[in-house]
Parts: sequence; structure tokens; C-alpha cells
Amino acid sequence: MNKTSGSISRRELMVGTVAIGGLALLGTPKFSSAQTAGGVGAASTSGFDDLTSLIRGELILPGHDAYDEARKVWNGMIDKRPAAIARCSGAADVMDVVKYAREKNIPVSVRGGGHNVAGKALKDGAIAIDLAGLHGVRVDAAKKRARVQGGARWAAVDRETLAFDLVTTGGTVSATGVGGLTLGGGLGWIMRKHGLSCDNLMSADVVTADGRLLVVNEDENSDLYWAIRGGGGNFGVVTSFEFRLHDLEPITGGMAMYPQSMLKDMFHFYRDYTSTSPDSVSAGAGVIFGPPGTALEGQMAGVIIVCHKGPAGEGERLVKPIKDFGPPALDFIAPTTYKAQQSLLDASAPAGMRNYWRSNMMTELSDAALDALVARADELPPPGSMIFIEHMGGAVGRVGAQDTAFSNRHAKYNTSVFGTWVNADEDERNIAWVRNFGDELKQFSTGGAYVNYMAADEAAGNIKAAYEANYKRLTDVKRKYDPTNFFSGNQNIAP
Ligand SMILES: Cc1cc2nc3c(=O)[nH]c(=O)nc-3n(C[C@H](O)[C@H](O)[C@H](O)COP(=O)(O)OP(=O)(O)OC[C@H]3O[C@@H](n4cnc5c(N)ncnc54)[C@H](O)[C@@H]3O)c2cc1C
Repeated sequence: MNKTSGSISRRELMVGTVAIGGLALLGTPKFSSAQTAGGVGAASTSGFDDLTSLIRGELILPGHDAYDEARKVWNGMIDKRPAAIARCSGAADVMDVVKYAREKNIPVSVRGGGHNVAGKALKDGAIAIDLAGLHGVRVDAAKKRARVQGGARWAAVDRETLAFDLVTTGGTVSATGVGGLTLGGGLGWIMRKHGLSCDNLMSADVVTADGRLLVVNEDENSDLYWAIRGGGGNFGVVTSFEFRLHDLEPITGGMAMYPQSMLKDMFHFYRDYTSTSPDSVSAGAGVIFGPPGTALEGQMAGVIIVCHKGPAGEGERLVKPIKDFGPPALDFIAPTTYKAQQSLLDASAPAGMRNYWRSNMMTELSDAALDALVARADELPPPGSMIFIEHMGGAVGRVGAQDTAFSNRHAKYNTSVFGTWVNADEDERNIAWVRNFGDELKQFSTGGAYVNYMAADEAAGNIKAAYEANYKRLTDVKRKYDPTNFFSGNQNIAP
């Protein structure tokens, strides 16, 4: 291992194109290297010799050839320099790194799939507990359960469960980490039928702040089981998740796009459509940049994305209103596979772009809220930003508000502003725009937001509001399992 600390490379982004279902949707960042001096937060590399020999996995330190690659996360705006990156090989490594960091009084962060937009996977000067090596998935088809290691991505879960014609609710972009997504809730295409990802979590192995591994489920450490279903990474490192699986059924899905002149009508149609659609249908609607190579290239466009899980004939009938409305300028809704639906948005979310997000939970889509979305559409920062409404309700809303830490069960919609651009010199302007727009939409919200879409500078008050009445109980559980706030690199619940 190269232990010489030295210069780091800075990434420069350039834009190309990416194909999505035959469409070029967004710019793909390519990386070129330019050298710049390192140093911020870089610890003395020699100080970690004892940790290197303690763990089975690799310890990556500043100056190591792999360091710069290992500290990249999905959001290209995040440029943090951990003191060490501990690529854990198993629960034992996680337990030892936790105990080591506690003893030496070194802060830690926890990295699952590295997709958190706020870059919570890393912290300057901390040891990053990197779970990338823990990506195994084991399916028990007879019991309809899957054991998923803490650093797995959703693509791995789908790959393994689909081999047995089984599925569970996962994220809508297949590279997203199971860890952060599940612990914060987990919105996905089949949530209205089968609940959030966290609603399908039956059990977990959690390494707590004292370095012990606890089995957590309905019967054992049930207070922690309650808290990790929505409370984020506040309570420990999950080395393994056990999910309930559901039968795979035919999927009818895809997206339809509309010209900007139809935005208002499209949002009103979407509101009517989702107010009557059954739980087998999940649909989202928003505003995107028209994909290159299509009739909508370079224009603001409306989009409706739908997924029906159930008998094919029923699916065809239930998506027909979307295909009939307008009609759409582009219509890619058809019988499809679960895998295709789960990766439909992959190309629209390339790693390395600069991102800043805001979300607002809403019980209804009022005329005024929809007007605000239409009015602001023209201002979306190019090339990748979008406004998107996710339809919740169904099985998500049937779980009691206090049954899991995930709150806002009464919200029917999650309305998000996803700011995505390329150049650092646009950061200030674009961040301010997303922030202002998000604040403007707050008047139409429950007051809550989705913790997994929160930006780095989200106020503590917003985190508290996101948990509504569950916040107090979360602080109690935090005090019991992590009284010193050892796990603070998250949407933090202070003990
Ligand atoms: C392109 C994209 C698409 C997305 N789509 C969806 C979507 O469809 N539905 C949805 O609900 N969300 C979605 N999200 C948001 C997503 O839920 C969060 O970004 C989430 O944090 C990703 O998890 P991760 O493991 O990749 O995160 P990381 O950045 O690795 O981790 C973030 C934090 O999660 C915690 N954490 C992660 N793994 C563990 C673990 N094993 N044990 C303990 N703590 C852990 C830690 O606190 C960590 O700091 C999306 C995000 C992106 C970037």
C-alpha cells in the first residue's frame, strides 16, 4: 500500500450524451484530471498502522492510489477528504473500526451506495466505514425473504430476487444503495402495492456505537427496529438487511412526454388520474429537459412515468388514460420487464454532476401548487434538473404514522426539485434557486420533507419536521443506543 500522502486530483466535468430506452436524456460527465494541492482533513497516514493490521478489508489512506476514486460519491459537488477509508470485509471489520474510532476519539461516517445527495457517506478528517465490499444477496425463495448486505445496490437485489420471480420495493435508479435508501424510508415503483422499502424490512444486523452487533427485529431490540425504519443511519451500521419478498407479476410501465404548452393540463390530468388509480399503479409526473434526438429536444417537457404491477390486461387498461391524454408527444408506455422499469431512469442520473435538492410532502396537489410548478418550469437549471412528483398513498399510507419512524404517512405526494448542473461556477445561483423554489412550495406541504432527498445544509428544524410526532421517540432511542452522537454523519437526530 502506498502510504505517502501527496497531491489529489480534481475532477472536471464535461458533457456528453447518454442513451435511455433508445433516448439520449442527459449529459454524462466525463472526468479529466488536473492536479491540485491536497491537505484539508488529511491525517498522518502512519497513525493507522494498528487499524490496517486489525481489519480483514483494506484501509485506504490519503496518498494511496485508490484514495481519490474511493472518496468520490454520486454528487460531484461533494469533495470531502476522510482521514481513512476502511473497506470493511464483514461485520467483524465494522465492529473493530467502530471500537477503534471510539477509543482514539476519531469521528466516523458510513458509506453504503454513496448516493446521498448531501454527501453524508463521507466526512472530512473521519474514518469512512465503507461497505462497498459488503454487497452479497441471498434469497430464501421458500420463505420469500432476501438477506442483503449493508453496502449492496438495488441492481444486485433485483438480479438475485428476479431469479426466483420475486421482488421487493427498491429505488427507481438501480445504482442507489440499499442502506441509505431503506433506512430513510425507500420510495419505489411498487410501494403503493407493497409498502416502502423500510416497510418490507423484517430484520437487520446493526453494529451500534459500542461496537456490539445486535439482531434487530419485531422481537429483539424492537425499539431499534422501529427507529431504523425511517430514522436513517443515526443508530448504527447495518451490516445486513432481511427483506420480505413478493411475487413478480407482469409489469406495464414506461414514460410519456408532453410539450411545455400542455404542462398545466398535464398536472391537472395527473392529479385526477392518481386520485382514482388503484394500489397496483404508481405514477410520477414532472418537468424535464426534452431528450436530444427527439421532437422535444432542448425544450422544457412534461413527463408522466408509470408502473403497473399486476395482470397484463389490467395494466393495459389502467395506463390507457395516460396514453390517451394529450396525446403525448412521445409515448414509451408498454408491457415491460421489472428489470427495465427499475433501470428506466438510470441514464438520467449519472454520477459526477453537481446536485442540490429540495422536497416537500403534500396531502394534496392544490391548483396553486400546480400553478407554482408550471410558473417555475422555465427557470430549471440545465442540463439535468427536474421537478418531480411521486405518488405515495396506497400501502404506504396504510401503515400507522407511529408504527415506524418514517412519518408523513398521510402525505399523498412527495414533490421534489432536483437541481442538476455541470459547472462549479453555477453552484451559488442554482443552489439559491432550488432553495427558494423549495421554500415557496413549503406553503402547500405538510411541513415535512423526505429525509433521503435533503441537501447538506438542511436546517435541523426541517429534520425535526420531517419526523413529525415521531421525533421525540427517535431522540429517546438515539440516547439509548448512541448517547454521544458517534453516528452524526446523517440527517442527524441529536440525542
Ligand atoms: C440518482 C438517485 C436516485 C434516487 N432514487 C431514489 C428513489 O427512487 N427512492 C428513494 O427513496 N430514494 C432515492 N434516492 C435517495 C436515496 O434514498 C438516498 O440518496 C440514500 O441516501 C442512498 O443510499 P446510499 O446507501 O447510496 O447512500 P450513502 O451516501 O452511501 O449513505 C448515506 C447515509 O446513509 C446511511 N447509511 C447508508 N448505508 C448504511 C448502512 N448499511 N448502515 C447504516 N447507515 C447507512 C449513513 O448515514 C450514510 O451517511 C435517490 C438518490 C439518487 C442519487
